[in-house]
Amino acid sequence: MPLTRIKFSSQALNLFNSEILEYGRIETGGVLIGNTSEDTIYVEKASNGGTNAIHELLYFRADPNFIDMFIDMEVANSKCQLRYLGEWHTHPEVIPAPSIKDLQSLNEIADSSDDFCILLIIGNKDFSPGAFIEQSISLIQENGNDNVYVLEASDIK
Ligand SMILES: [Zn+2]
Repeated sequence: MPLTRIKFSSQALNLFNSEILEYGRIETGGVLIGNTSEDTIYVEKASNGGTNAIHELLYFRADPNFIDMFIDMEVANSKCQLRYLGEWHTHPEVIPAPSIKDLQSLNEIADSSDDFCILLIIGNKDFSPGAFIEQSISLIQENGNDNVYVLEASDIK
């Protein structure tokens, strides 16, 4: 069954909100952890970028050591019920669109993954928590498939 939907836990939404409050128009981001069921991806947890992340107006890079540690710890704590899903970062836009670099990096990660990778981009300009769905775009690329698809996003309720 193709994955067409994505749902975000309140933990993940709170993390996005607090990161955007902290960094404002400067880009921030991290990784997404969760699982899948039928056609839906469940994002249970999101990380920040770690203390050695690089935050610029139009550039973000998470600290790879922190990210590796976060993923290993969350997967182990969940007794392997949760898995790495992909990445998230912000753009200084209201309605964000992926850059060419974003699509290239999604393609690389999807190619090195067993099945798929997702990329969530959140517009940090005039961001309000209640407008998360309107101010974000969730993309998925499957391993071995050049096409990128937009997922239908909602909260986990
Ligand atoms: Zn980007």
